Amino acid sequence: MNSKCPLYINGQFIETAQKQNIINPSTGKVIVEASLASLKELELALSAARKAFDHGPWPQFSLTERQEFIFRIAQGILDNAGLLAALETQNTGKPIKETTFMDIPSSAKTFEFMANNFIDYLGQEEVNVSSDTKAKLIREPLGVVVLIVPWNYPLLIACWKLASAIAAGNTVILKPSSLTPLTALELAKIIDQAGLPAGVVNVVNASGAKIGELLCADKRVDMISFTGSNETGKQILQYSSKNVKKMIMELGGKSASLIFNDVDLEVAVNSSLASIFLNQGQMCTAMSRIFVQEAIYDNFLSSFAEKASAIKLGLADSFETQMGPLISDAQRKKVIAYIEKAKAEGARIVGGGKIPENAELKNGYFFEPTVLVDVGAHSRIFKEEVFGPVVLIHKFSGLDEAAILANSVDFGLAACVWSKDLFLAQELAGRINAGTVWINTYGMFYNQLPYGGFKQSGFGKELGREGFLEYTRIKNVILDQSAEGKPLVNYWYGF
Ligand code: NAD
Repeated sequence: MNSKCPLYINGQFIETAQKQNIINPSTGKVIVEASLASLKELELALSAARKAFDHGPWPQFSLTERQEFIFRIAQGILDNAGLLAALETQNTGKPIKETTFMDIPSSAKTFEFMANNFIDYLGQEEVNVSSDTKAKLIREPLGVVVLIVPWNYPLLIACWKLASAIAAGNTVILKPSSLTPLTALELAKIIDQAGLPAGVVNVVNASGAKIGELLCADKRVDMISFTGSNETGKQILQYSSKNVKKMIMELGGKSASLIFNDVDLEVAVNSSLASIFLNQGQMCTAMSRIFVQEAIYDNFLSSFAEKASAIKLGLADSFETQMGPLISDAQRKKVIAYIEKAKAEGARIVGGGKIPENAELKNGYFFEPTVLVDVGAHSRIFKEEVFGPVVLIHKFSGLDEAAILANSVDFGLAACVWSKDLFLAQELAGRINAGTVWINTYGMFYNQLPYGGFKQSGFGKELGREGFLEYTRIKNVILDQSAEGKPLVNYWYGF
């Protein structure tokens, strides 16, 4: 594995004095010491990104030139797919099957897709406003964009943001979570080999509120694209308010899956298991509240609990493993505290709820897939994001109640509807206050489709045309076309 994890600033790999132990959550052991940025490196990154935008060739390149660079990044990811999957698995505890078949290929595809699509929205469009006024609408890159990403999909979310941001001609500072910087730092090597001009992409592993504040408040930054928790999101909004900038906020969720009587029970159970337990439930779109219509509730619950208990926990680097460890001991403690609180509020555990006893797993941060029932709508676990392998299952009677339950939390990220009645399913989708609704499927993210939450789940989009356009701005150039070049304002003071 890579023994050095330097920062990447202005086209240089920089080892810093300050280091952070990077832990393998399957074993609790240190993988490597990664460089951590101090204020000095942060300053270097800010000035490099600004200079590369204001004076460098990147925003000036033709669209085809930029495309070529981005295709090379996509190819570099594919060429290094095995290494990247292994690193992501080691660093996050995500089963190797998930990183190999989902995270890494999807990351490459996003670069390829963004290079091939939407970039022709950049450029000029003429608008004839009136007989004596014409306007040019110029869509251009924004400038310097700070990309702050979480630990649950470290490479994939970084690539969603990076691909759009650089395809649009911006320069960036990417800040991975200091728990999981390894694939972002490896991506820096791929970007360097792709030959991007110095300062276009800077990867800065950093931690702490002080560094966060300096990065997000700095006047040299034009936009912040953040994915993470609501608490951090609110802090970043405060920092950025010191100087005005554009923001994307992709925050937490407490998503609902609504399962109607007419479904194929086996399909609904199997898919619902994936909708909460993939990546150990550490997904922003995890369906952590499953509502099942009354007639099939008992059968659904018993089948779901039985299959959940059969999910194979194991070390994340084995292809046999279906569920790996949580990201850290702190995260596991948080999950346990939520379960204890739920029990005190009347919930019953019908599956899991414990640290597994398997000796092979004793040093990692494993936790059994956990199924709760009898969870009241006012209890904390009904409303708050746990971010772990914990689901609550509840009954509902019909369409109206389903809509109320789905909308009964502060978040509005995603929902699932399961029914053979597509008319009913689409009617319900229309009533759900969430940015993504899946009908009879779950969890597919498409480069073509914008993704982002409503309500406390944030604002702004990633992916799709709207996601690309987020990283651009429109300038409005108005041209006078009046006869003899004498516009109306010319006469205003009567001279
Ligand atoms: P987090 O908020 O703790 O950290 C996210 C990022 O912010 C990390 O890079 C972290 O180092 C950085 N950060 C922390 N404090 C900061 C500060 N004061 N200033 C600047 N940066 C700071 O989130 P997490 O625990 O890494 O990720 C889990 C959260 O992310 C969950 O709430 C989950 O729902 C959310 N998430 C949302 C989406 C989405 O698309 N909506 C996707 C994935 C994860």
